Amino acid sequence: MPRVGRPTLVDSTMIVYSHPDHRLHDPVEPHRFGGLLLPPAETASRSERILRALSDQGGFEVRVPEEIDENDLLLVHEQPYLEFLRSAHSRWREVTGGPADGEAVAYIRPLPGMPRRQPTHVDAQLGYYSNDVDPILEGTWRAALSAAACALAAARDVYRGEETAVYALCRPPGHHAGPAAFGGYCYLNNTALAAAWLASQGAKVGIVDVDTHHGNGTQAVFWNRGDVLTVSIHGDPEVHFPFFAGFPEETGEGAGAGANLNLPLPSGALWDEYAPALDRALSAVDAFGADVLVAALGVDTHAADRVLALGDDDYPSIGEALMTGLQLPSVLVQEGGYGEGVLESAVPAVLAAFA
Ligand SMILES: [Zn+2]
Repeated sequence: MPRVGRPTLVDSTMIVYSHPDHRLHDPVEPHRFGGLLLPPAETASRSERILRALSDQGGFEVRVPEEIDENDLLLVHEQPYLEFLRSAHSRWREVTGGPADGEAVAYIRPLPGMPRRQPTHVDAQLGYYSNDVDPILEGTWRAALSAAACALAAARDVYRGEETAVYALCRPPGHHAGPAAFGGYCYLNNTALAAAWLASQGAKVGIVDVDTHHGNGTQAVFWNRGDVLTVSIHGDPEVHFPFFAGFPEETGEGAGAGANLNLPLPSGALWDEYAPALDRALSAVDAFGADVLVAALGVDTHAADRVLALGDDDYPSIGEALMTGLQLPSVLVQEGGYGEGVLESAVPAVLAAFA
């Protein structure tokens, strides 16, 4: 089995993959959440905020990834879903007469237990392929492709041993996207693509998802697979998104039995509760014998994002734990993080341990 390369040269500059096409997905229409009409939280400004903060900190080299080979998407996603994502906005415009800058959103979904005949109408497909109120814009497909390209480029660099750790500044994020489903601001599962590509090269991959929400899409992708361990530390799904997954009894099936570990934490958990969960996650990756780490780097664990309640000072510790606790070649994939000042402080703080 090929081993993931280990660089022999010490290089203090960390490679960051970021693609300008992420700006093509920048939703503006507010949505109803729990009786409130809220503006979208996952917007293009998130990437710009992170890039500015990394530039201020120094020690990062930002690169645009090569064009993606769309066949790589089939490592994670189903072909009909990809065709839907690619064509949904133009078909929605044809049917509704909506404008080019309109946002296509599901308004109907199949009832549980209904015959799951694959729908052909775009309005039905919007509900069939999504599980919340995320929109598809004219540029969503190209933005999602650009994020996937960042994750795959980072995985390739790490696999070739050119870098010890590479950061993929992916947006839209990915860990809620399943093999044939979008939701939670996610369309293509960037973390899963990086992990599946590494696994396709023969690597044994450990995913640690530190986003504050359970990585339900990633869990679904690898549910039956034993070559990729998925671990997620997140706010209790009994009371937090994504609600329908993320519980401890979900441990995988078939070849994947025992290769999925969920570590939910109570709302408002602080570092003293978080740190033991992180230790358990790292022990699991170690026991699995992973060759490479793929970290789903959400920083919405910060108190400002109101699920868990970590503070600015905890993010250097997360980076330190992921880096020194495992000492593995690492692909760091950006997931969530929204609140004022959170991305700017927490992302560079985690990356500093690797850079
Ligand atoms: Zn999140």
